Amino acid sequence: MQSHAVKVKSINKITHDVLSIVTERPFEYGFTPGQATEVSINKSGWKEEKKPFTFTSMPIDDYLEFTIKTYPLHNGVTNQLLHLKKDDELILHDVFGAINYKGEGVFIAGGAGVTPFISIFRELASKNEIKNNRLIFANKMKADIILEKEFRK
Ligand SMILES: Cc1cc2nc3c(=O)[nH]c(=O)nc-3n(C[C@H](O)[C@H](O)[C@H](O)COP(=O)(O)OP(=O)(O)OC[C@H]3O[C@@H](n4cnc5c(N)ncnc54)[C@H](O)[C@@H]3O)c2cc1C
Repeated sequence: MQSHAVKVKSINKITHDVLSIVTERPFEYGFTPGQATEVSINKSGWKEEKKPFTFTSMPIDDYLEFTIKTYPLHNGVTNQLLHLKKDDELILHDVFGAINYKGEGVFIAGGAGVTPFISIFRELASKNEIKNNRLIFANKMKADIILEKEFRK
């Protein structure tokens, strides 16, 4: 299994508990919108704690983005990500996942489960191919909605 250490280019909160983390993209590291990789933090004690996250950037971008719901009350990887800064490193592993766009339809997601649709809908929008695709996106509270403006557009 290959692993790649990548630097964090930016890290921002996009809701009260969701981070957008943009990293470098390793050479020839490809994915299809909807796919994911295991991610760990390149710091002592956390390198072996691999957790799956979905790419939310597009395959043509020269960076990678992850959109990650954090669990601040629980000492797991997402809590540690809240302390990450620009130029810290993540370790990425193999790309996997069978979720991909197979044609027009109605897509249903809840909370952070929307992440595969971020990359899928971004790619469709970039090609002007949103057409009759629809997203039904359920959340507990309005404040939990990830990328509301972008999805409404
Ligand atoms: C293929 C795949 C792709 C994924 N992509 C994404 C993605 O793009 N973005 C995203 O946000 N998530 C994604 N996930 C989910 C993500 O992997 C998990 O949220 C993450 O692994 C949590 O890691 P953690 O170490 O912080 O928490 P873990 O130790 O794994 O525990 C998280 C769980 O603990 C529970 N919990 C929270 N607080 C407490 C507490 N105080 N005590 C006990 N339990 C608590 C939470 O309900 C949650 O279920 C994906 C999962 C899969 C399988």
